[in-house]
Amino acid sequence: METFSRKEIIDLLKDNSQNDRLFAFADKVRQENCGDAVHLRALIEFSNICRCYCKYCGLQVNNSSVERYRMTPEAVVECARNAVSSGYKTVVLQSGEDKYFSKDILCTIIKEIKNLDVAVTLSIGERSYEEYKAFKEAGADRYLIRIETTDRNLYNIMHPKADFDNRVRCLKNLKRLRYETGTGCLVGLPGQTIESLADDILFFKELDADMIGIGPFIAHPQTPLKDCSNGNLTLALKVMAITRILLKDINIPATTAMETLNFDGRLLALECGANVIMPNVTAFSYSKNYEIYPDKAHLDDDIMNSRSIINNKLKSIGRTVAKDFGFRKKQADSET
Ligand code: SAM
Repeated sequence: METFSRKEIIDLLKDNSQNDRLFAFADKVRQENCGDAVHLRALIEFSNICRCYCKYCGLQVNNSSVERYRMTPEAVVECARNAVSSGYKTVVLQSGEDKYFSKDILCTIIKEIKNLDVAVTLSIGERSYEEYKAFKEAGADRYLIRIETTDRNLYNIMHPKADFDNRVRCLKNLKRLRYETGTGCLVGLPGQTIESLADDILFFKELDADMIGIGPFIAHPQTPLKDCSNGNLTLALKVMAITRILLKDINIPATTAMETLNFDGRLLALECGANVIMPNVTAFSYSKNYEIYPDKAHLDDDIMNSRSIINNKLKSIGRTVAKDFGFRKKQADSET
């Protein structure tokens, strides 16, 4: 199980008789290449204002039932400061595509947070090469932007007014600028095929992504996909496990969407190849309105976001909390 052809990936995704073997092997690859320490990344959802029309997302511009918010730059930095004082080594700044946060405003925020001696990840969508360059120069270390699906037709259906080629261009620009680059996909979008999921995995490999976030699609009642079925957790875990086997040393979060479908979804994911958790440190008065899918707000207020509970939960599966910044090993080695 060292490497897979496209056909082998498709067969593995279709056949459920090998699941336990697949998960155990992915867990072994994770242990050998990343160790048992889990990286905790403090997630700050600083704006739910978005110009996009993603059909699956509760924040999409047409959803008028969302109470929109935008944290002030000072509040974002303060939230990061609190996260760093409680021991976090990475802060993830995530938002809808909110153009209020201009290049200059974001650079100021990034510089202030970098003064706290912490790694900074951005997850703010599609921006120009010049903006990505400026954020990198201001100190940003990592950038997350999921391709969502590599099926171009499905991408176009799911993302009205968006451009698949620009999404790919963004990822290539981020790699070129030497960000630790994260991407990923949704599993279970209506119309998605197993073949296209195999292509997603091969895309991650071809890009040599440094981080991959895989989330089951969860239908949001205020979106055009409200009547569609949710994605399947086992299939999402399988996409994640195969990704781990192919990209051995990368960082893979156990995603909150997995926990929405199963009470212990994140712990389960940590035993199938994941090595990262992103606890939400945003004040609940904001994060309750960052409902990209239903029940997320409830999870964000969950005890899993308390560090002592996380420590205990990780201990129960033989894992610890990492003490370093958690860069991809290959990258960290090549820079020493
Ligand atoms: N705007 C940024 C971007 O486009 O990369 C980041 C914010 S966006 C809300 C973060 C992620 O939420 C997306 O990449 C998408 O995969 C996920 N997401 C949105 N709606 C979802 C849903 N209904 N079910 C599962 N995940 C969803």
